[in-house]
Amino acid sequence: MSTLKAVRGTRDLLPPETALWNRIEATARRVFERYNFGEIRTPVFEDTALFARGVGEETDIVSKEMYTWEDRARAASEKTQSLTLRPENTAGVVRAYIEHKLGETGQLQKLYYIGPQFRRERPQKGRYRQFSQIGAEVIGPPSAGSESPLRDAEVLEMLATLLDELGITGWTLHLNSVGSSADRARYNEVLRAALADVAPKMCGDCQRRAVTNPLRVLDCKVPEDQPIIEALPKIDSVLGEDSKAHFAAVLAALDTAGVPYERNLRLVRGLDYYTRTTFEFTHGGLGAQNALLGGGRYDGLSEAIGGPKAPGIGFAMGEDRLVLTLQAIEEAKAVKGDAYIAPLGESMNPAALKLARELRREGLKVELGDGSFRLKKSFEAADKVARRIVILGEDELASGILTVKEFASGTQTKVPRAELVDVLSK
Ligand code: ATP
Ligand code: MG
Repeated sequence: MSTLKAVRGTRDLLPPETALWNRIEATARRVFERYNFGEIRTPVFEDTALFARGVGEETDIVSKEMYTWEDRARAASEKTQSLTLRPENTAGVVRAYIEHKLGETGQLQKLYYIGPQFRRERPQKGRYRQFSQIGAEVIGPPSAGSESPLRDAEVLEMLATLLDELGITGWTLHLNSVGSSADRARYNEVLRAALADVAPKMCGDCQRRAVTNPLRVLDCKVPEDQPIIEALPKIDSVLGEDSKAHFAAVLAALDTAGVPYERNLRLVRGLDYYTRTTFEFTHGGLGAQNALLGGGRYDGLSEAIGGPKAPGIGFAMGEDRLVLTLQAIEEAKAVKGDAYIAPLGESMNPAALKLARELRREGLKVELGDGSFRLKKSFEAADKVARRIVILGEDELASGILTVKEFASGTQTKVPRAELVDVLSK
């Protein structure tokens, strides 16, 4: 008899790894609590129509990734029904919001969830058929302030805090606005027109999307298509005044609160329900599947599934990817030094020795390179023995500002000498 194994794309989580999962979940619960979120648990399967309407027929999730089956009637009082294992949790939360009339409280609902999701995707590192998401939603009637840009900024600030508390360094927040549903519709038409000429030169998926859902073309990862996509009209050219003002207010609040972000005009996200703010947090250590989490505003979702007007904003983090990132960071910490100092040219060697001496006396584990190495060779040597490389050249010496690259995240930053010990101790 052949031995039975866990199904492709699913896996067992065993100790000691499960301790890390529990730590991540405990940290998330603690942070959500501080922002006054409460937990919601929705069923793992739902009526297929919920996802068809809530996520969108044209999305990859609904068109090719769902686990759907006909559930046979067991009694005369039942009907055979099409059911689906949830591929995401926002649609379920909004269904529950409508079903339990949570809008009638007049209060903003702040709900979080932690649990398994299911998508029939090609399994690879960071991509599974059963995976876990940690997510949260802020939703309510407009009179409760659910459309306020401050809610968007608060959710993003909470995410930055959560990632920091988890010990995930080197993340990047990518931020965009896809505008109101009217702006989106207008942009879709602008894209459709622009794509008419160039789509035949693009990949098969893009040719199809150019007709059915032009916005999705911006998600294409095929290298040959990238120059064509870069030349397409950008979404900010069609945003209405309201959308622009809303987005500007989100950015202003983030700037004041000190949450760093990058504007990414191509970030439209894979789900149809997003309006206005959309975002993603990425981490360089994850390779091709580099999105730690994604989210955005969904002002029309409740109405799309038959509910009252209930604007909202939320996100879903890939817990499997948080685990992978933390494992890589912890592994690097356990075996590698804090820094490798790379002097640029032999004349910098004495200054490099002085810097290494000072850092080592602060308790840091430091490797010292050699100025006769080419920069590429220094990078290769450094990657093997240290978590970061610190570059020391004439400019750095004169300005007192050093270039530090962290290997796990791939991020490069300029660090004043006075802050170097702090940065390298993290
Ligand atoms: P991707 O571009 O990686 O496919 P997505 O746009 O499909 O992401 P969302 O639906 O926004 O992802 O889900 C939010 C997060 O859930 C992702 O950023 C990712 O961390 C995680 N995630 C999504 N699909 C999977 C999967 N199949 N396996 C593991 N994690 C996943
Ligand atoms: Mg996906």
